[in-house]
Amino acid sequence: MIRAYLDHVGVAVVDLDASLRFFRDALGLHVEASEAVASQHVRATFLPMGFSSIELLESTSPDSPIARFVEAHGPGMHHLALRVDDIRAALAALEARGVRLIDRHPRPGAEGAEVAFIHPSATHGVLVELTQPAVRVPRFLTAAPISLGPFELISLSDGFIHLDGGAMFGVVPRALWASKIAPDDRHRIPLGMRPLLIRGEQNILIDAGCGDKMDARSADIYGLERTYHLDHALAEAGLSADDIDVVVASHLHFDHVGGFTSRDSQGRLVPRFPRARYVAHRQEWHDATHPHERNRASYLQENFQPLEEAGVLTLVGDGAEIAPGVTFRRSGGHTPHHQVVMIQAGAETAVFTADMYPTTAHIPDPWMTGYDLLPVQSLEFKRAFAREAIAGEYLIFFEHEPSMAAGRLREQNGRRHVERVR
Ligand SMILES: [Zn+2]
Ligand SMILES: [Zn+2]
Repeated sequence: MIRAYLDHVGVAVVDLDASLRFFRDALGLHVEASEAVASQHVRATFLPMGFSSIELLESTSPDSPIARFVEAHGPGMHHLALRVDDIRAALAALEARGVRLIDRHPRPGAEGAEVAFIHPSATHGVLVELTQPAVRVPRFLTAAPISLGPFELISLSDGFIHLDGGAMFGVVPRALWASKIAPDDRHRIPLGMRPLLIRGEQNILIDAGCGDKMDARSADIYGLERTYHLDHALAEAGLSADDIDVVVASHLHFDHVGGFTSRDSQGRLVPRFPRARYVAHRQEWHDATHPHERNRASYLQENFQPLEEAGVLTLVGDGAEIAPGVTFRRSGGHTPHHQVVMIQAGAETAVFTADMYPTTAHIPDPWMTGYDLLPVQSLEFKRAFAREAIAGEYLIFFEHEPSMAAGRLREQNGRRHVERVR
């Protein structure tokens, strides 16, 4: 099976400036990039729209494919581009089914991507491009289940977000953190959004990524990549939003609970998981609904207020039991009432650490995000927790790590590292 998502719609244009007066000025879309693609004699301009883009294609040579297309059909829709993880495997799979290809091998496309076209005779008249985007770090989507006593633990993916590298590492100098996670040309680092699914007697979901409500401008600033998102991840686990019984918030920042609500067909905000009871910490809820200047940008009311209105919210205190074996534990620090979730089965312990250990690069005790409101509290919790996790061989789930889902913290000769499990 080829996992393909709509990456962009290509539009052949004759006069780019005139086109931009509609797509950019009248529709208000943001122009992300404009780049000459030498191999195809075109200039490509991308306008992101939610999780896909419109690509305006202008010919730079009279014998380019775009020039010939415009000559034959006039300007207009030119192709659909589908994003795939492994373009070579996708081409081989299509060829094995007798699908006629224009490119049997990928060629270089815009923004470092590799692309290949399928012949329109095989696609009922639609020119289809496959694209495999360039990635700077290995990306990790939904992980295979891990058994822990009666539970099955599945680290899901709601795609990727790019946050300012300096903000993610607080007072740690860039000279140190940049060697762990390389920043892009806008100083951002790639971060996963990895909710955890606990399958037992109930299906419990901890956090839900940033969801699909973000406007195009913010999606661009945060480099949101959600061509693969939580619905895909749940489907891979054999579930849909209807199957979730309990949804838990580690804290109420938008990159963790944006996926708690969505808009219905009339544009009203509704709980995204229709059958679920939602659990949040009482004081975290108070802080999120009474934001101040320092945390207001992280607490978007549309992500959680509709839950209270729908009557599906349960507020709990420190150490609350969410289900037998699944409990809240206050770490504080990042927000005063930030929770990690402990999953206990006999002698085995797993922990969803949320923004206490957002990535494996945040293992050293003083390496914490600049967003942490109470950094000294973070430090105290991390110091004690690390000792406990090493001694107890805790299985740690990393919510923002782009290239690993879970691992065990080890210490040898005073040096710590994470041993990968998934
Ligand atoms: Zn946070
Ligand atoms: Zn976060």
